[in-house]
Amino acid sequence: MRLAIAPRRLRLRTPIATAHGTVDERELLDVLVIGADGVTGAGEAAPLPSYDGVSLDDVRAALEDCRPILADADGLPRERVAAACREAAVLPQAFAAIDLALWDLEGRRAGEPVWRLLGAPAPAAVEVNALLGAEDRAAAGVQAAAARAAGYRCVKLKAGLGDDAGRLAAVRALAGPEMAIRLDANGAWNVEQALDALVRLAPAGIELVEEPVHGVAALRAVQEATELTIAMDETSAGPGALDSGACRAVCLKLTRCGGISGLLDAAARARAAGTEVYLASTFDGPLGIAAALHAAAVLGPLRPCGLATLDAFAELDVDPALAVRDGVMQAPSGPGLGVRA
Ligand SMILES: [Mg+2]
Repeated sequence: MRLAIAPRRLRLRTPIATAHGTVDERELLDVLVIGADGVTGAGEAAPLPSYDGVSLDDVRAALEDCRPILADADGLPRERVAAACREAAVLPQAFAAIDLALWDLEGRRAGEPVWRLLGAPAPAAVEVNALLGAEDRAAAGVQAAAARAAGYRCVKLKAGLGDDAGRLAAVRALAGPEMAIRLDANGAWNVEQALDALVRLAPAGIELVEEPVHGVAALRAVQEATELTIAMDETSAGPGALDSGACRAVCLKLTRCGGISGLLDAAARARAAGTEVYLASTFDGPLGIAAALHAAAVLGPLRPCGLATLDAFAELDVDPALAVRDGVMQAPSGPGLGVRA
């Protein structure tokens, strides 16, 4: 099989403020695996350096390490090729791209959507949250009202940015009493600050708080001291974190887990430790979002997932198969991942 790699830059409509800094554009690598029969599988690498410290150059180099394996891979089963590439690529962000392309290739050859190859009986409806990226109260309120009007039942608000209480109050007022509101501090607080913030913010009604602090021990300390659901996000990449049961929930990302295969493994490990699972993108492109939806189809009921992020890109014609309808997305039903980059 031949490997083709091409960079792609996607600009965000509006910069997203997080405790890691502001994200205003994404650089992805489009990855194609082209079989000797001419059938092509497409994947993408979407590392987010400010989150996971992995650069696009690191990922490109890791993908190059897979090239000789793929060159000899025609006729071999997907699992075997994937296992060899996972070992060679080392970086999950790179392996994810190969994993997606190999699933896409297998699905296109079989004429079946990936969710069916994974054993799902149907492309489950996946409840998704809207991301409210505004830094000031008024704009956050406007975004909240728009999310409600569009049919979302869950919104996510970044926290640890200053005026969290003001933005949260504006969002609650305009999103209405039924809206689930989740907060994401991206590890901006220490344990004491987190507990203090949660006491102040909880009266507005909070569904969960993602990564209030970094590290398994600190997250456990926060979870044990609050009635609120705490979710592990960035920390889950560390050794032993998924098995720790430190938080009630964990946010899993396809890119960080190593594609569909890595995501399903991670979910099984987290659930074995009694942890609830939901999925989110790291501003992935269409292939990453589609792949997460295929995985969601076999994972069963999930908390609302952070997969409604394609609209954040300017100049991207979102494939209708990935449209959000009334706060719900569904895995595409075409062959393979069912979408093209
Ligand atoms: Mg997060």
